Amino acid sequence: DVQKETLGFQTEAKQLLHLMIHSLYSNKEIFLRELISNASDAIDKLRFAALSEASLLEGQGDYQIQVDVDKDAKTITITDNGIGMNRDEVVEHLGTIAKSGTAAFMESLTGDQQKDSQLIGQFGVGFYSAFIVADRVEVHTRKAGEAPDQGVLWESHGEAEFSVEPREKSDPGTSITLFLKDGCEEFADDFRVRSVIKKYSDHISVPVVMLKPATPPVEGEEDDKPEEAPAYEAVNEATALWTRSRTEISEEEYTEFYKHVSHDFDEPLTWSHNKVEGKLDYTSLLYIPRRAPFDLWNRDMARGLKLYVQRTFIMDEAEQFLPLYLRFVKGVVDSNDLPLNVSREILQQDASVDSMRSALTKRVLDMLAKLAKQHGDDYAGFWKEFGQVLKEGPAEDFANKEKIAKLLRFATTHTDSEEQDQSLEDYVARMQEGQEKIYYVVAENFNTAKSSPHLEVFRKKGIEVLLLSDRVDDWLMSHLQDFDGKAFQDVARGQLDLDSESEEEKQQKEQLEKESEALVERLGKVLEDRVSEVRVTTRLTESPACLVVGDYDMGAQMRRIMEAAGQ
Ligand code: ADP
Ligand code: MG
Repeated sequence: DVQKETLGFQTEAKQLLHLMIHSLYSNKEIFLRELISNASDAIDKLRFAALSEASLLEGQGDYQIQVDVDKDAKTITITDNGIGMNRDEVVEHLGTIAKSGTAAFMESLTGDQQKDSQLIGQFGVGFYSAFIVADRVEVHTRKAGEAPDQGVLWESHGEAEFSVEPREKSDPGTSITLFLKDGCEEFADDFRVRSVIKKYSDHISVPVVMLKPATPPVEGEEDDKPEEAPAYEAVNEATALWTRSRTEISEEEYTEFYKHVSHDFDEPLTWSHNKVEGKLDYTSLLYIPRRAPFDLWNRDMARGLKLYVQRTFIMDEAEQFLPLYLRFVKGVVDSNDLPLNVSREILQQDASVDSMRSALTKRVLDMLAKLAKQHGDDYAGFWKEFGQVLKEGPAEDFANKEKIAKLLRFATTHTDSEEQDQSLEDYVARMQEGQEKIYYVVAENFNTAKSSPHLEVFRKKGIEVLLLSDRVDDWLMSHLQDFDGKAFQDVARGQLDLDSESEEEKQQKEQLEKESEALVERLGKVLEDRVSEVRVTTRLTESPACLVVGDYDMGAQMRRIMEAAGQ
């Protein structure tokens, strides 16, 4: 065939394929979840496109995903009547990995299969998981709306290369056939496949159908009845999960649905499912992932919720429903107020979207507060993964500052451990009598913070100080003025008014100032163009001197960031 082309997988795709085949072998059946999930996505996309272009449906009947097994040929085929792909899309989507940061992710792999199989979960396994069970995969697809002769056949043995060639296809959509490896014949077994579909795909809103088991011929009946078309039946529940009532949904179903919407391999940490009626009418199902995605710090990481309007899929990554500092949240929102033809532009201006955004934001913050209260270990895990992101909150979301502040966790002199596990409520509860402020120190790393000379006097007096050393901490503290009515005070800034000073201490200080006048003057001269002032202090107990920042000057951390940026 002249038009058959053989192409190489992108390097990252090749590595991923290799890793997948070797590290996920003990969890083979997940390939079916991934392929059905893709088929369902493709149907969602066509359903949406057909809203504005009905001809795309090509007079097709209902949407469905069909699974056929052939024991003799040792194959399993997954067929959908979704959007399909044209040649360029096939090459792009099944030959490369388009996700941003893929190369960096690949570099982070260790070569240790145990560890890497954990990592791969953060990446999402997807289409390539077919090669866990198959040594050859054929994808026959045609884009909805294009002519039958625009069909494409993609084929690969899952090694370095794949081929593409034109192949007529009468129906739009995609059909994927897996030629099973030795030892994977179980996936050509009707009973086994049905149970896998039940397990993973009940929540998929379109029917996943399989051939009805043949009924044995009834005794005495004529054999010469006309051949009937084979009958298919739905194997899964086939109702969108979030439309069902909470009490009817099992933990497993919530978990599987999470894996479908998030493309995450891991289980979620917690979730919140709510129907809202009244002024606004919508359903939301929001999840907190267990682990940060590999591209959490990538500017163009996929974020946002899956948006449905009256059960119809509208778009992935609808960013308008949550603020940036909650970008790790996954889930769906299904609105009955928005029009079906809603676009990203409309979302940005719509007043009901604003109201939903503030309600959903509260919902997430409440969910986190509940997690912290009821499942401390899980919350500690959450903080490790996403604490840095949550610290962006007070700057971005003024209205919820107090709620966010309660969720923050810090390292403090109370434990002197690097672990960020102390809340501001804990701190306030431990405040000394007469202490009015919440003290903190910022440094470039934990050890510097912990051994800061500024802490000496606080340690002496037994006053707790927050030890801050994350990049965002200066930024955070410049937006947190107070908590529970107590102002925050940087111990390295300006005058310290540890007002528990006794008369005796005051006298001592005055005496000291007098005695040191000459020294202070001399130091002031020597350091003239380096410091703005030299001052006598009682705040040091061991170190002879320390640098402090003026009340209105930039924090040390901020200064470092500006310097790094060449300012
Ligand atoms: P993901 O689903 O996370 O995007 P996958 O590896 O599962 O990653 O799939 C890669 C891409 O291939 C999909 O995003 C989609 O564009 C395309 N694709 C896969 N399966 C189908 C299908 N059945 N119909 C149409 N496109 C598909
Ligand atoms: Mg997928």
